[in-house]
Amino acid sequence: MESKKVVVVGAGAAGLMAASAAAMYGASVTLIEKNKRVGRKIMITGKGRCNVCNNCDVETFIRNVPTNGKFLYSAINKLTPEDTVAFFEGLGLPLKTERGNRVFPQSDKAVDVVDTLYNYVKNCGCKIAEDTAEELLLENGEAVGVKCKNKTYYADSVIICCGGKSYPLTGSTGDGYILAKQAGHTIVPLKPSLVPLESKNLDCKSMQGLSLKNAGLKIVDTQSGKTVYDDFGEMLFTHFGMSGPMILSASSHIRDISDGRYNAVIDIKPALTHEQLEKRLQRDFDENHNKDVSNSFTKLLPKKLVVPVLKRWGVPFDKKCNSITKEERRRLCELLKAFTVEISGFRPIEEAIITSGGVKTSEINPKTMESRLVKGLFFAGEVIDCDAYTGGFNLQIAWSTGNLAGESSAY
Ligand SMILES: Cc1cc2nc3c(=O)[nH]c(=O)nc-3n(C[C@H](O)[C@H](O)[C@H](O)COP(=O)(O)OP(=O)(O)OC[C@H]3O[C@@H](n4cnc5c(N)ncnc54)[C@H](O)[C@@H]3O)c2cc1C
Repeated sequence: MESKKVVVVGAGAAGLMAASAAAMYGASVTLIEKNKRVGRKIMITGKGRCNVCNNCDVETFIRNVPTNGKFLYSAINKLTPEDTVAFFEGLGLPLKTERGNRVFPQSDKAVDVVDTLYNYVKNCGCKIAEDTAEELLLENGEAVGVKCKNKTYYADSVIICCGGKSYPLTGSTGDGYILAKQAGHTIVPLKPSLVPLESKNLDCKSMQGLSLKNAGLKIVDTQSGKTVYDDFGEMLFTHFGMSGPMILSASSHIRDISDGRYNAVIDIKPALTHEQLEKRLQRDFDENHNKDVSNSFTKLLPKKLVVPVLKRWGVPFDKKCNSITKEERRRLCELLKAFTVEISGFRPIEEAIITSGGVKTSEINPKTMESRLVKGLFFAGEVIDCDAYTGGFNLQIAWSTGNLAGESSAY
């Protein structure tokens, strides 16, 4: 039997995996990438260290994919996180597991992940073409190739792995959605996920650059009063609002971000209970009894927080520490345990780690990743309407769906 011709569009995480899997199943594969180098986005993952995957079981993985997690059962069972670790180590890339089961290359270099995949794809016999896919070629309801800027590629199967719309400088500019629409697919509206949060509260601007290393954070839905996110970790104030690891994670728990719907409630002293904090404040005020209250926070708070806290507290800056009342101390304590910042929106999709939305999952067969609308057309990676929390889950989506689409396309 003649080998099938497969064209893979996009040499990111999903495309590299799809191309190699198709080749391993006997297909003759051309991998089309618009950039000079493959895997540009992988290069910047995990702050240049690449959090390759999360070494967890399948159920935990699915729980960490809030958008259409169940759609991924077949793909993830075919290539589990454990398989992913074995895959990379088998290719000679030693990995290590860190806090929260996050897996990284032992070298701490994302470029090693890219080089490993690039060499593997080449060794599997895939051709890599530097070109930009512009149009899907369809005949009698089947995908028969891709018209690119420089050349037209004919194929028995086409796999679209163009990624999302975030960090466009890496090449992910949303082309996959255009190709999918051409085939009649529905694109679930795009929205940023794992993204910094904007706030109109001027305190953020005045505290820009301030990083809280150990803060508590709750995201509260002001309509229902429910807490949708509750964590402890690092965050940062910026000129537009808030960023940092904890804020990015929090963003993927926010669904309808209309202005004022959600508040970030920050616990500036999470290691202390209310009682302990009140005692601590009393001690600081006793030590500074003749000083202005504005000068008594040097040990307690980072410099940039002092003025915003004092303004919210409402006690005159020059009030002497020895005249602070019990009620004032209690109010200060409450303020420090629940410093509230109103959220006005997400930063633009271009600044998001992940694009949420994309090709509608009900139009893709989860057992093969083939389009239910067009024969011979497959999807893998971020272009599909699936997205996960941080911790290596998003790359796992790309590896697993890429692997499944590649294998299925070769039959
Ligand atoms: C800053 C940052 C850090 C991240 N860190 C992590 C992490 O540590 N762990 C994790 O799990 N996830 C991380 N992610 C998310 C992860 O990078 C993505 O989920 C993953 O890269 C998606 O893979 P993909 O192959 O679907 O898309 P991409 O990696 O975006 O690849 C798409 C490829 O398609 C190419 N392409 C697009 N259009 C065309 C066209 N018309 N013709 C030809 N080629 C085209 C692009 O140039 C690109 O190379 C991070 C994301 C960002 C932005």
